[in-house]
Amino acid sequence: MSYPNLLQPLDLGFTQLKNRVLMGSMHTGLEEEKDGFSKLAQFYKERAEGGVGLIVTGGISPNFRGRLAPNASQLSYSWQVKKHKLVTDAVHSAGGKICMQILHAGRYGYHPLAVGPSKVKSPISPFTPSPLSSRQIHKTIKHYGRAAKLAQQAGYDGVELMGSEGYLINQFICNRTNKRNDQWGGSLENRCRLAVDVVNAVREQVGTDFIIIFRLSMLDLVENGSTWDEVVQLAKWLESAGVSIINTGIGWHEARIPTIATSVPRAAFSWVTEKMKQEVSVPLIATNRINTPEIAENIIASGQADMVSMARPFLADPNFVQKAENDEAQLINTCIGCNQACLDHTFKLKRATCLVNPRACYETELNITLTTNQKKLAVIGAGPAGIAFAMSAKQRGHEVVLFEQKNEIGGQFNLARKIPGKEEFNETIRYFHEMIKKLNIELKLNTQFEPKMVKENGFDEVILSSGVVPRQLTIDGIDHNKVSDYQQVLNGEVELGESIAIIGAGGIGFDVAHFIAENDSITLDQNKWLDNWGIDKNYKNAGGLDDNEPVHQRDKKIYLMQRKTSKMGKGLGKTTGWIHRSVLKQHGVINMSGVNYEKVDDQGLHIKVGDKSEILAVDNVVVCAGQESNRKLLDALQATAVPVHMIGGVDIAAEVDAKRAIRQGVELALEI
Ligand code: NAP
Ligand code: SF4
Repeated sequence: MSYPNLLQPLDLGFTQLKNRVLMGSMHTGLEEEKDGFSKLAQFYKERAEGGVGLIVTGGISPNFRGRLAPNASQLSYSWQVKKHKLVTDAVHSAGGKICMQILHAGRYGYHPLAVGPSKVKSPISPFTPSPLSSRQIHKTIKHYGRAAKLAQQAGYDGVELMGSEGYLINQFICNRTNKRNDQWGGSLENRCRLAVDVVNAVREQVGTDFIIIFRLSMLDLVENGSTWDEVVQLAKWLESAGVSIINTGIGWHEARIPTIATSVPRAAFSWVTEKMKQEVSVPLIATNRINTPEIAENIIASGQADMVSMARPFLADPNFVQKAENDEAQLINTCIGCNQACLDHTFKLKRATCLVNPRACYETELNITLTTNQKKLAVIGAGPAGIAFAMSAKQRGHEVVLFEQKNEIGGQFNLARKIPGKEEFNETIRYFHEMIKKLNIELKLNTQFEPKMVKENGFDEVILSSGVVPRQLTIDGIDHNKVSDYQQVLNGEVELGESIAIIGAGGIGFDVAHFIAENDSITLDQNKWLDNWGIDKNYKNAGGLDDNEPVHQRDKKIYLMQRKTSKMGKGLGKTTGWIHRSVLKQHGVINMSGVNYEKVDDQGLHIKVGDKSEILAVDNVVVCAGQESNRKLLDALQATAVPVHMIGGVDIAAEVDAKRAIRQGVELALEI
């Protein structure tokens, strides 16, 4: 067995978990949909069948004011139990275990009834919370107990109490948000009273044989957060109060430090759980950016934690654990930390899914069934869309030949993986390779598809997934040897000078600026990365922040430009755009909006901003001005009279993105 520590059971006394893997809490959006709980039941059932030791649901509020949003889920009444039973029955029928997370949003509640310890507005919410009276606090504690009791009646194996990420309990713990001077504020004991009283109330309601996980903020990453001594003291109180497991919470939502994005090094925060291991003996869970069984095994084997929590990796692949058990880790569809289809959706109040696995949260809707009408299919282009189609079509029983004119598969992912902090894209390419092999898909690399091959090979239908080509601009001097496109730069075909102008500030313009500015990816060096973001492993200050301003080597002058006058990077991911903007700021990239490009010559790039003309004396001009569909073959293919389908960038080049491309590939394969 390759992962003996990860796959060993964990004995909690009254119950045993079959391995050390926790599927961490994620809000899917199904919780609030009509019939959402039956879809949710299938979603969790597949993860239980995939072997995960313990599942934690998305956060459910113990009362109305604690809801995250006005229509968010709450468990307060016995009539609400029935729908939860769908979930627990499904998980138990698959041999799994599941806890319900109880989350009171406090001042993060996105509604005017939000409450908190004090009247301190969060920087990420427009609503100022009303301070809870002492009577309301006592009632809230009872509501936690009631929610836990109802969860037990619904068949859950336990509850997780959300005490981190800046939600209500965390707001009481820290001086940052707790300005009270009654028995709920001031001294550490007073600030932690809510946390401890909630655990006591829950334990009293559910008895001894019920799992209570407390998610403890071990590193707040905000000013006026807890000190290390305070975190340890609270952990000890929680242990005495009888929690079964302590899970690690990292960073408040308002922290301006990335904690789960793809550019965060793998297992970047397991050291803090390890630090806590010296202090308490209750089992501890490490979390954040753990996405492979190797990383997870190392954490357990080295004694940093007793369990690992992975959330998004179970959107990407429900069979993560089973594949690890079967020594098939190379077949795991790895979460690349992009947030594009999960958290970005949640924040836009859309159902979560996964960029690399569009079936996530669509388990009852997107199903691969065997075809009764087998066809021979040519897929032209082995980028994400073409490969996603090829895999699903082959699984349905079609004969598939995948043509790629380059000597490698992956399309635009081969460019993305070169960007510092986007190394995870390599994992998707590895997964594609392994699945092409496993499914025995005929792959023809270095092959330019010619329309005559349709008839010669007897293809019934053709899927054109030939992607995009960079948009060519028509400004004067565009043929000057200073000018190149982003593909040439990322492929290392251009020697860059010391000053560079980037035309176009979409996702790729930002990525190229980062690529040029950061010589060695700090994501691959945990200590450098922690230093860069001001995180102090020695925990000298409250919140775990250090006092040093990071020093960035700025050996290139980079201009990033757009014609629009709107905010730069407005179209970037909802939960990751701010990180890209911060990184470029750290590197001193000069942002320019409202730019008209006039010409390029030996002097550099001539531009006009408003009425002001300017010459940027740059060595290079890199065009990142979007893409156009690569439809070179379309007319000739349509003339062959077999059906031709377009997927991915060749279908719609504007805002080409892998999430849409992969989903389109899978959906077409299910229809064909
Ligand atoms: P994009 O987001 O559409 O941006 C294209 C940029 O080029 C814009 O800044 C646009 O701004 C400019 N532009 C368009 N036509 C132009 C013209 N004729 N002359 C000069 N400038 C022009 O495209 P992209 O950057 O190539 O990214 C493609 C897709 O990849 C994105 O939609 C995104 O989904 C994905 N992606 C995302 C990320 C990320 O979120 N980090 C990273 C990489 C890729 P103006 O019109 O204002 O000049
Ligand atoms: Fe991971 Fe991206 Fe899928 Fe979210 S969308 S689960 S971050 S791969």
